[in-house]
Amino acid sequence: MIGVDPAEYSKSRRCAGCRLPPSLCICDQIEPVETPFELILIQHRSEVRSVSNTGTIAAAALEPSQRIIYEGTSNPRIEAALAGDGPSLLLYPVPQAREISPADLEPGTRLVVLDATWRQARRMYRKLGPLRGCRAVTLPAGAAPRWVLREQPSPGMLGTAEAIAAAMDALGCTDEAAGLRRTLDLAMPRALHALAKITLDEALDPNFRACAPAPPPYPPEQEEE
Ligand SMILES: [Zn+2]
Repeated sequence: MIGVDPAEYSKSRRCAGCRLPPSLCICDQIEPVETPFELILIQHRSEVRSVSNTGTIAAAALEPSQRIIYEGTSNPRIEAALAGDGPSLLLYPVPQAREISPADLEPGTRLVVLDATWRQARRMYRKLGPLRGCRAVTLPAGAAPRWVLREQPSPGMLGTAEAIAAAMDALGCTDEAAGLRRTLDLAMPRALHALAKITLDEALDPNFRACAPAPPPYPPEQEEE
């Protein structure tokens, strides 16, 4: 049995590299994948220590990549990340988005991904002006999830890392996508184990939350609009 101490699974103990509990950390097994584009992962604060988050692992595996925490309307890091030459492909299904294809892969291409719930992503898109200067793209129809760690708005929708892998396939980076999926296949059983352990602890011990260490030092999200 792994990690019998509930504190092992608390949010404050999660690995900063892979966001899994320390006993389940896969950081030394993440397969580095070089890509002909830069991944810009804009991550909502609530995803930073979520065991069901997969964007962090994708950002750790892909090179080059940047993982930027969403901090509201103004974020100089996001503006700087999107400012270079080459197109910024925003993987987000706005009405004007079109299906991503190998023709989108140009020198200096950036793949911009919002790592958040759909509701949070809608707010991020509305708040972050630089995103509206990106080329919005969608995944080809038919990409099916291999791993489902959280409920999606409709069946067949992909988690962040699997969506990135599907976009890589569509760009023609199939070998690189396979490398990312190999890392996910290592990480996801551990994430499922952690989710099951956390759920069981909370179900069996009504004081679990009260006994857990203090939450991470992130300010509560401002309620917006
Ligand atoms: Zn780790």
